[in-house]
Amino acid sequence: MNIHEYQAKELLKSYGIPIPPGEIVYSDRAAARVAEELGGTRWVVKAQIHAGGRGKGGGVKLANGPEKVTELADQMIGSTLITEQTGDTGRPVHRVLVERAARIDREFYLGMIVDRVSQRIVIIASAEGGVEIEQVAAERPEAIHKEYVDPGVGLLDFQCRKIATSIGLTNRAVPFTRLLKKMYRLFRDKDCLLLEINPFIVTEEGDMIALDAKMQFDDNALYRQGEVAELRDFDEEDPKEVEASGHGLNYIALDGSVGCIVNGAGLAMATMDAIVVHGGRPANFLDVGGGASPERVAEAFRLVLSDRNVKAILVNIFAGINRCDWVAQGVVQAAAGLKVPLIVRLAGTHAEQGNRIVRDSGLPIISASDLADAAQKAVAAART
Ligand code: ADP
Ligand code: MG
Repeated sequence: MNIHEYQAKELLKSYGIPIPPGEIVYSDRAAARVAEELGGTRWVVKAQIHAGGRGKGGGVKLANGPEKVTELADQMIGSTLITEQTGDTGRPVHRVLVERAARIDREFYLGMIVDRVSQRIVIIASAEGGVEIEQVAAERPEAIHKEYVDPGVGLLDFQCRKIATSIGLTNRAVPFTRLLKKMYRLFRDKDCLLLEINPFIVTEEGDMIALDAKMQFDDNALYRQGEVAELRDFDEEDPKEVEASGHGLNYIALDGSVGCIVNGAGLAMATMDAIVVHGGRPANFLDVGGGASPERVAEAFRLVLSDRNVKAILVNIFAGINRCDWVAQGVVQAAAGLKVPLIVRLAGTHAEQGNRIVRDSGLPIISASDLADAAQKAVAAART
C-alpha cells in the first residue's frame, strides 16, 4: 500500500523528523489562505499523486507570492499530471500540498527498504539526492552507499556514523544519527516496505529537513496497522483491483484479449506465459486463491468480463486446497448467457467431478486437457 507525500510527512513529523511547514488543500482559495498562515515569502505547491518524478513533470512549482500560490493550485487541482512514473495516461490531481520553500544548501538521498535477498533492512544513502537519483544509480553506482541492518540487533550508532561519513555529513554525525534512528523506528513500527526521503536536505541555516517523502507498507501487516490502513487512497488504485480485493480476489489488469481465471500466483504466471507462447496476450489475470466457493468464482467472472478487451476466458485451475467441483459449479453459474468463448481446464482435487459438472451443464464450454492445450484453444478462440 502506498500513501501520499503529505501523509508520509505527517508520519515523519510524529516521529520527530523535521519537515517544512505546510498544509494540504483541495482548492485554490484555501491555498492562498494557507500560504499566508504559513508566512514567509516563497512557497512551493506540490501535486499529490502516488507517483514520483513530479519535479520534472511540472507537479512541483515555486511561488513568489500568495497570488502565484493561488494560480498554481488552480492549475494543478483537477489537472492530469504526467511524469516518468505515471505512464502516458497520467494521474488526476485532487489535492496539493502548500509548503514554505526551504533554502537548500545540499540535497541528499536517504532510503530504507526491506531487502529479501539479505533478509535485512537496507539503508541507502547518497550525497547526490534530488530529481536525478535514478540516473546516478544507473551511471555511477559507487555514489550510492548501502548499510545492511540486522533486524534482530537493530540500527547501531557506528552504522549511522558510517553513512554520515559516506555522504559528507561527518560534522553532523550526532544529529544525523538521532534522525536516522527515528526513521528506522518509524519503519519498523509501521511495517514499512519502503521509506524514501529524496531530497533530504541541509538548509542554508544548517538544519536537516525531509523535503519529500514516499512510504510503502506491507499489505499483509495492514490488519495490525489500523491508522496506516486509513490513509489508503482508493482514487489512486485501479477500481477493478480494489473491487477484487474486497471479494478476497487478486485482480491485475493487462492489455491483451484473453481473460484468465486461475488459482495461485504461480499458476497465473505460467498461464500467462503459455498464452504468450501460443501467440496471444492476457487481458488480465484473476487469482481466485485457495478456497474458491462457487460465489467467488461467479464474482471473478463478473470482474473479468467487465474488461471490454476480453475476447475469450480461460479458467485454469490446479486444485489442491481448492476443489474442482466447487469451481465448476461457479463456472456453470456464471457461464450461462456468456457472450465470449470459455475454455476450462481443471486438474487436481475432485477434477473428475468438476469436469462432469461442466460436461453435464450442456453449455458451450470448451474443455482442455492440460495447460498447453488450454492456452492454444483460448488464443484461437480469442482470434475468431
Ligand atoms: P518529486 O520527487 O516527485 O520530483 P520532490 O518533492 O522531490 O518531488 O520535489 C522536487 C524538487 O523540488 C526537490 O528535489 C527540491 O529541489 C524541490 N522542492 C520540493 N519541495 C521543496 C520545498 N518545500 N522547498 C524548496 N524546494 C523544494
Ligand atoms: Mg523527490
